[in-house]
Amino acid sequence: MVTEMRIGQGFDAHRFEPGRRLVLGGVEIPHDQGLQAHSDGDVLIHALCDGLLGAAGLGDIGGHFPDSDPAYAGIDSRILLRQVVEHLALAGWGVVNTDLTLVAQQPRLAPYIGAMRQCLADDLQIDPRQVNIKATTTEGMGFTGRGEGVGAFAVVLLQERPIE
Ligand code: MG
Repeated sequence: MVTEMRIGQGFDAHRFEPGRRLVLGGVEIPHDQGLQAHSDGDVLIHALCDGLLGAAGLGDIGGHFPDSDPAYAGIDSRILLRQVVEHLALAGWGVVNTDLTLVAQQPRLAPYIGAMRQCLADDLQIDPRQVNIKATTTEGMGFTGRGEGVGAFAVVLLQERPIE
């Protein structure tokens, strides 16, 4: 029997806002500003959720968790990610791997990548080796380069698995 596989991609960007916590990949990062959002602004998790939902043909994060719904105000994005993973499992999909890229001029993110991998692997119920996270700048160009916000890209591979 051939195992079905699906690929998905996600992108998100959020604007910096003073006085907020900066949370990326489920990890709080010391910085003088955080990201503006209805939720905690975890742009990496949002891109990952869109990649997961896209691969499974299940729409997007905005459709599942509308930002007009007060239930999601300030919510920990890891809760949204776990709900997406649950949704995929019910539809018969498991995660093979994900490759993620954060785009930010500052702060320096390399010291936090290991903790982010562990967080996301826990929520995805896979090994951290199946979760790759890269961080890059844009050499001062564009909205990330000007320090206006943070962007994130996700690529996800799913494979079918027995429905729980
Ligand atoms: Mg978002």
